[in-house]
Parts: sequence; C-alpha cells; structure tokens
Amino acid sequence: MTTFQPAIAATLDHLQARVLVRGWLSANNIVFHQDGQGQLVDTGYVSHADQTLVLVDHALAGRPLAEVVNTHLHSDHCGGNAALAARWPGLRITVPAASRSKLLPWDDGQLSYRETGQRCPPFVPQAFLADGDMLQLGGRPWQVHAAPGHDPDAVLLFEPETATLISGDALWQQRLAIIFPELDDTPGFDDAARVLDRIEALQPRLVLPGHGEPFTDVAAALAASRQRLAAFQAAPLKHRAHAARSLVVYNMLEHRRRPRQALVDWIASTPIFLKALQCVGDPDRAQRAAEATVARLLADGVLTASQADGIDQVQMADD
Ligand SMILES: [Zn+2]
Repeated sequence: MTTFQPAIAATLDHLQARVLVRGWLSANNIVFHQDGQGQLVDTGYVSHADQTLVLVDHALAGRPLAEVVNTHLHSDHCGGNAALAARWPGLRITVPAASRSKLLPWDDGQLSYRETGQRCPPFVPQAFLADGDMLQLGGRPWQVHAAPGHDPDAVLLFEPETATLISGDALWQQRLAIIFPELDDTPGFDDAARVLDRIEALQPRLVLPGHGEPFTDVAAALAASRQRLAAFQAAPLKHRAHAARSLVVYNMLEHRRRPRQALVDWIASTPIFLKALQCVGDPDRAQRAAEATVARLLADGVLTASQADGIDQVQMADD
C-alpha cells in the first residue's frame, strides 16, 4: 500500500478516504467509508479486476461495498464495475449523466471500447451525476463539476472544506491526457483549457488524480498541463501522434509481449488509430502508419524487440 506524506494522509483520514494508486493500465481507486459501508470512485481495467476486488476487499475490512462512482467511462476507470457488481449484489453504480444514453441500453457504437480496441464488460448504472449536483462520499458533500475535454462526459468531484479535488483524467501532475474528441475532428482543446481554468478557480489544495500519486502542487500541474495543451493546439498532428503512441502503449500494458505483426495489424484495423493517424479508408497507408508508430516506440526504447518461435516480438521495455 502506498504511504503518503503526513499532510496528505491526514486529509485523506479526515475525508474517510483511501487512495489505491494503481499502474497506468488501471486508474486509481478511491475507497470511502460511509455509514458502515464502502463507496468506490473508479474501478480500474478489466484485466486487473481480480486485483481490484482484493484491494477493495482489503480496504473495506469486511464492510460491504454499497456504491461505485465513475468519473468517466473510459475502460481503465470502469472496467471493474461488472466484477464489483457481481461480488456485491445491490451495488449502486453512479456515472456521469452525459453518458446515460450510451449505457441504457449498452451501446458499443457510442461507448469508446470498440473504437479503441479496449475491453469493458457491460454494467447497468442506477444513478447519474450532472454539473452542479452534490454527492455524499465518506459522509461529506462533494460538488460535481462537468469536465469535458479529455472526455466530453467526464466529471470532477470537489470537497470544499478540505479543497480536495478528484480530477479523473482532467488533471494529472505531470502529463496531459489525450483530448479524445480532437482525434475525431471534434473540438476539444478549448474545453480542456476551460476545465483547467475551472479547476484553478476551485483553488484545490489536494488533487487525487486518475493516474499517479496524490499531489498538492496544483499550480505547477496546471502550468504543465497548459503548456502541453498549448503545444498540442499549435501542432494538432503532434497530439495525434502522441495519442496513437499512448494508445499503443496502453494496449502493450495489457499484452506485455506480442508478435510485432499482430500489433501492427491491430493498430491498422482499430478505428481510433485510423482517425488519429488520418488513414480512414486507406489500408495501405494505415499499415505504413502503424509500422512507423511501432518503429518509433522501439527507437525511443518504450518497446523492445525480441524473437520467439522464429517470430518477431515486441514487448514493454521495462519487462
Ligand atoms: Zn480517461
């Protein structure tokens, strides 16, 4: 279990919260205690669902899990919902209201999973969060703020007394998450910039991000995100290339090692890459762009090449 600096640990205790910092394939999980029951914000990726169950069980110390809240419905934030609902029947699943029509009924075409080639087992939500709502977490009222940009439907959760922000993927300490609408030629950069302004106006003193450790130097994180966002706005092709790389890495975090050609073929046939790399309807160009993306990840040392059974393989460099 990660230990945090004393001031952060004290605030989390005060909020009846525990932050389970996960690897990048799974978003962090935040466990709250309320009325002898548990609540959980974000549930990780499906391939880590067993680990999520163990971690949440441990954090709850025998109490039942009553509610799951998702900041947004990317596969690394809600991939554990179905397993948790199976483990705790009657679990209430609360999601952003803007996603409601994509879930009821479950619509693979509207949700991002088919598009990104990622997996997420279906679940049924019972409650919805909209901008301006209040939500009880750990026995305290948390504000709900819309946070479009990275994901058009996403929400932020903010507790005013301690000025603690659950930022999802809208603000990380160092990096900036992909602005997904832009890959589909839909404006998203300006929304992302407005969300950073909105976060600044809330004056958070502690941020619990979707990925990475909790942090308190919010001004530095906002400055870094704004700088990165401005660079992407000035050169949208760089954002597209960055998005393609990040999505390949995400896939490799699940596979760890796979035949190089299988990875290239997967990239060249997965819709999000065709859009990001601007090769919709041009399979030859898609193959070349996919090969170039893998080659750059190898050249940069993010992936390494090997051979197994006479077949060229790629794997995560840190394996
Ligand atoms: Zn996300």
